[in-house]
Amino acid sequence: MSNIGKWLLLGLLGASVSSYATDDEQSMFVSDGPYIKKQEGELTVECVINSQAKRYQGLSFIARMQIDNCGYPVTLSNIDFIEKTTLTFNTKQRIVATSDFHGQYAIMKRLLQRNGVIDSGNNWALGKGHFVITGDIFDRGDKVTEILWFIYQLEQQAKAAGGYVHLLLGNHEVMVLNGDLRYLHPKYLDVARILDSPFELLFDKNTVLGDWLRSKPVLVKINNMLFAHGGFHPELVEKQLTLASINTSFKKNLIKRELPESRSELGEFLHKKKGPVWYRGLLKDNGATSAEIDLLLKHFDVKHLVIGHTSQKEVLTKHQGRVIAIDSSIKRGQYGEVLIVDGDKKWRGTLDGKQLPLENHE
Ligand code: ZN
Repeated sequence: MSNIGKWLLLGLLGASVSSYATDDEQSMFVSDGPYIKKQEGELTVECVINSQAKRYQGLSFIARMQIDNCGYPVTLSNIDFIEKTTLTFNTKQRIVATSDFHGQYAIMKRLLQRNGVIDSGNNWALGKGHFVITGDIFDRGDKVTEILWFIYQLEQQAKAAGGYVHLLLGNHEVMVLNGDLRYLHPKYLDVARILDSPFELLFDKNTVLGDWLRSKPVLVKINNMLFAHGGFHPELVEKQLTLASINTSFKKNLIKRELPESRSELGEFLHKKKGPVWYRGLLKDNGATSAEIDLLLKHFDVKHLVIGHTSQKEVLTKHQGRVIAIDSSIKRGQYGEVLIVDGDKKWRGTLDGKQLPLENHE
């Protein structure tokens, strides 16, 4: 028997286990998980297998513990996370960036394999390079949990190789964590019902993935590029905000129900239309002017703003390359691209692994 099998068996023997059937006439079975709660040093692992809840309680965390028969196979390397406050990196290594996976696990894997982020066994292949995901893993598609655990594990592999995975928060992470479930794939409503929990509490702060997501920043600067999900509004310059102050205020005001009082004025501003996860004015008409984009670049001391959120057919640039749009509509489940950066050279990496020049669209 594998270690994993033994571990789960121990879990079964040493802890209370419950499993119950659903009570409706659904034609399709649902499977999902694991969702892992941590409380006073003990773990509870829950998943849904063929529309039945499975629960393993009273487990002690051991580094590199494997959970491989409760949903997506996971090697649990870490369960407590320190908030990421390093927001600036300099590297001579390759940088690959993409965005807006929206539950499209198959396209994501293929895209990352063909562009050398992972190998054919789905393991980190970018060496000391940096891989940036500018948010929106959640919503629309039905393989969100798979992507979250995949990135959780990829991050550990990258770290071991001297590389980095930078996962930034998008508006859909913020929505789901706040219980705004309007864009959830219906599968996850079933999962929440079967696990008898409001969906957002499956990502509560006492859960492994919930804690992990809460540790993620809303922006990162690598070399001369500044990344965020939505964009940077010119008012950020007027307000003389630094990258650290934007990130800190955004994060301090992340989840309304967890705040002692309502969001601060700046927190509210950063979580609305002009904030980094919602702003679209760098790509839409009648948005930021050329002069305002120059002001932003100067203020944050970068040459490019790299953003997702506003879907394009491919990775492309606007404003003569000053803005790079990396949401290539992966959400449709048919196609996707990555941005590849080597020194001053930039390409778009296609789904079949071609490296093509970036086109500027006005
Ligand atoms: Zn978005």
